[in-house]
Amino acid sequence: MDGERDYDYMFKVIIIGESGTGKSCLLHYLIENRFKRNPNHTVGVEFGCKRLSIGDKQIKLQIWDTAGQERFRSVTKSYYRGAAAALVVYDITNSESFQKLPSWINDVRTLSRPNISLIVVGNKCDLKSSRAVSVVDASCFCQEQEVPLIETSAATGENVEEAFMKLAKSVLTKLDNKQL
Ligand code: GDP
Ligand code: MG
Repeated sequence: MDGERDYDYMFKVIIIGESGTGKSCLLHYLIENRFKRNPNHTVGVEFGCKRLSIGDKQIKLQIWDTAGQERFRSVTKSYYRGAAAALVVYDITNSESFQKLPSWINDVRTLSRPNISLIVVGNKCDLKSSRAVSVVDASCFCQEQEVPLIETSAATGENVEEAFMKLAKSVLTKLDNKQL
């Protein structure tokens, strides 16, 4: 670390996926450590920062939220530009949000750098009795796509930090291997 900044690396991370899957809640939970039930009823968070320590490295994540643009499928190219990593979110209680994953993954792969690190996030895993997407189906899909899968809950906080941590580690590994 040098004297001018207090981190070793800063990565841009984007959150994409269908509207209502809990993207804004995931970002709120990561930053504020609590569930914000109605994130859209306040001024939309457009991005947030989170620091993580990985080994002896200090990482600063600059995390971008679509802030409602995804509802109109109008996520702009500049949203994707320069992103080192992306969370592609579906809602485990909504099979349509899962069926839309290929289209989101295709967008991210065409509109951002080719070796961007991805993770598929099955959110709302606290709502077990309303599950509409099985872990087996999600795992099969993610294996085909060669993307890791994690189930999270922005209501309880389960695996929220882990999802971002996994992504950050993947970006660091690519940097170490000079793939970025
Ligand atoms: P976005 O459109 O993808 O940003 O989704 P939001 O973050 O606005 O969340 C949509 C709705 O799902 C809100 O009513 C949230 O309260 C709810 N929600 C988000 N994440 C979770 C979760 O993990 N569990 C439960 N039970 N509800 C959630
Ligand atoms: Mg949102």
